[in-house]
Amino acid sequence: MKRTLRIKLFLYRFVSTALGKALLRLMSFGVRVKNLDGKKEKNPKKYPFLVVITTDTEAGYVNKDERRIWQKEDPEAFIGYYYGIRNLMNIFDKHRIKTTFFLSTQCFSSKGAEYNKIKKELGNAIRKEHEIGLHLHPDSDIALQKKLLRKFNATSAFFYTYREKLKIIKAAKGLIEKHLGKTIGKKLISFRWGNWALDSNGARALNKLGFRVDSSATPGIKGHFRAKTKYDWSKVKRHYPWKLSITDYQATNHNNSNIMEVPIATFDFFGIKLRADPVNSVLLNRAFMEYYKKADRSKKSFPFVVITHSCESMYYDGKPTRALKDLDSFISLAKKNGDVEFVTLKEAYERMLIS
Ligand SMILES: [Zn+2]
Repeated sequence: MKRTLRIKLFLYRFVSTALGKALLRLMSFGVRVKNLDGKKEKNPKKYPFLVVITTDTEAGYVNKDERRIWQKEDPEAFIGYYYGIRNLMNIFDKHRIKTTFFLSTQCFSSKGAEYNKIKKELGNAIRKEHEIGLHLHPDSDIALQKKLLRKFNATSAFFYTYREKLKIIKAAKGLIEKHLGKTIGKKLISFRWGNWALDSNGARALNKLGFRVDSSATPGIKGHFRAKTKYDWSKVKRHYPWKLSITDYQATNHNNSNIMEVPIATFDFFGIKLRADPVNSVLLNRAFMEYYKKADRSKKSFPFVVITHSCESMYYDGKPTRALKDLDSFISLAKKNGDVEFVTLKEAYERMLIS
């Protein structure tokens, strides 16, 4: 096992224990958010603080030893879809909030009872007005590969030409329309590339195909550099939305597309860069408070984007994980602040346009 993976696994196990969590809470003063520029006195909180919970919806599960079995390793672990969505919906229903599900179209490779279960869970989410967005993992999406009659061996946009990316996104859109209906197809405007691995031509393809919101960016973070999941948002310092550039995807001042980038919230923890993800347990709560206090809301609402994975909400038997419980606690904490609203990414986008 690779060293980083071993460390990750150690941390996952560690924060799953009561002691680990208590220690992490003690250390959470180490959470910092750079470049929010909010000065309290000049920063009247005129507009609401928007919390946008996004779920990358894909196959997989959490093993008993806390190891993550991702879609790439077991693309047929469709439980990641039906148990995953069900577990998350239980939490979202309890809090009466709306969220966004970024769907990998691999779910449409399932058959029979499993296919029906996935359709049922997705149908339930749609009926309750959650948003369906598109999430791309070409190398583990067999439905997509079948449709395009070819194999893909990388997740990251960096490994495909512009024409290939156009075809891939178009085909995935087509699959959503075919299986979830024309209405959902028409409403599909939000996007996240798998492993955050968007590039300039990918942005260009999204723009061409009519997407309006992207949430692939993880400001300040890059990774998987020697792998087919390579991604790089290290040059981006901005946490506020911007117009995505189709010539240099990390540029935040080009204004040359119709796509609003609403980045995933990121933060520093003693110099380590992390995403606003419930796997980071109590650090997510601390990061939320930093953003809540410091983000400038004098002219517009601020959208705080949280990322979670359907397959990280459950073990193989469907039982809820620590990450799911931590997501539940996070929502309870965020709700306590009167001017916090939970919205879908599409709603956040619309609010940013008007306010
Ligand atoms: Zn993914």
